[in-house]
Amino acid sequence: MAAADSPGAAGPSRQRYRVAIIGGGPAGCACALALAQHGVHDVLVIEAGDYAQFRIGESIPPEANRLFHALGIAQDFFAEAHAPCHGSCSWWGSDKRGYNDALLHPLGHGWHLERSRFNGFLAQQARLRGAEVLLRASLVASAPAQGGGFTLELMLGDLAHPRPASIHADVVVDASGTRAVFARQRGSRKVETLPLVCLAMRFAAPDAPRSGLTHLEAVEHGWWYGAHLPDATLLLAFYSDAATVKARRLQHAAHWLEGLAAASNTAALACGAVPLAGGVQSFPAPSYCLEQLYGDGWLAIGDAASAYDPVTSQGIVKALANGMAAAGAIAGHAALDAVAQTVAQRYADYLAQRQQYYGWEQRWPAAPFWRQLHAGALAD
Ligand SMILES: Cc1cc2nc3c(=O)[nH]c(=O)nc-3n(C[C@H](O)[C@H](O)[C@H](O)COP(=O)(O)OP(=O)(O)OC[C@H]3O[C@@H](n4cnc5c(N)ncnc54)[C@H](O)[C@@H]3O)c2cc1C
Repeated sequence: MAAADSPGAAGPSRQRYRVAIIGGGPAGCACALALAQHGVHDVLVIEAGDYAQFRIGESIPPEANRLFHALGIAQDFFAEAHAPCHGSCSWWGSDKRGYNDALLHPLGHGWHLERSRFNGFLAQQARLRGAEVLLRASLVASAPAQGGGFTLELMLGDLAHPRPASIHADVVVDASGTRAVFARQRGSRKVETLPLVCLAMRFAAPDAPRSGLTHLEAVEHGWWYGAHLPDATLLLAFYSDAATVKARRLQHAAHWLEGLAAASNTAALACGAVPLAGGVQSFPAPSYCLEQLYGDGWLAIGDAASAYDPVTSQGIVKALANGMAAAGAIAGHAALDAVAQTVAQRYADYLAQRQQYYGWEQRWPAAPFWRQLHAGALAD
């Protein structure tokens, strides 16, 4: 049974849990899977969605294979038949094509995921290993409980028929993605740098030759991303800052398509592909770290803790690794603050890496997008 088919809108089976994980994305599911490996089975995963909607964020590097093996789900993941990604080709810093291929990578190739199916797969694996996964259930409020742990107020079901529920958890893991819902309820704030906007369009491309590569192309006002996905669609996305998007009205399909036509290497991918209904979809792509990553009985992981610019393609492996580290700490093998320190250090490394990536592109020093990125700060 697929996770999305499960009776997710039913309420929690009990009132008390050792661990409640808010969010059933890669971070939350990896945490539940790793907790099961440590023998902690009294775990509730609370997920607002049901894995039925399109989800962006699909390129994962070879490092993911090591994490799938460590989580004990590698063979089941391979059987899901997502599309192999053999590396990336880019036009970045010059108009000559560069390659970063995974041919000789010791961990093999990476993947282009059908992302919602991947998230549903992780949730189903967590359920098979004993976690209770509640779908269409949102955390709405929380408070420290007398005697320790937290009382969590949930809303179950869809907006038309919401039902409240209340549980107690000794430990709470905030894996709610960029909403960071539990950490913000504890008073933690995001320290943001360089937020980008992603404008994506999907195309039907059943007969297109598949390169098996991630395509990146820097242009004057941002950069393009392209990947063929396992469901025979092509995803093309343009990344820029909010001010440039607004000034150039790039969220309108006509302007977006004009921009695509001018990015000749990316446009070549779309040759013969047919746009799917839905037009240009806009996604915030923030970059931040929480100022407070943990507290007494709680810890934030994945995008709830720190979000990376998609240019790195590191968000999912970071989420999986954080989930595994959090589980080790909850099982008593490390302190919560040691996990938080790792998250903070990795974020600092990411900031340096991103500065280096954007520094490699020097062709448009006067363009607002590149000028701000080189200066290390974007306007709101
Ligand atoms: C435009 C874009 C493109 C990206 N591309 C890539 C890429 O190619 N490769 C890559 O590795 N990363 C990419 N990323 C980043 C990647 O998607 C994230 O880093 C990753 O999803 C983080 O996983 P997570 O489990 O921490 O959070 P999420 O995947 O966001 O999961 C959080 C879950 O929490 C649930 N939730 C939220 N609020 C509540 C609540 N109140 N109660 C219960 N549940 C709740 C949500 O429904 C969601 O399922 C991209 C990001 C963006 C914005």
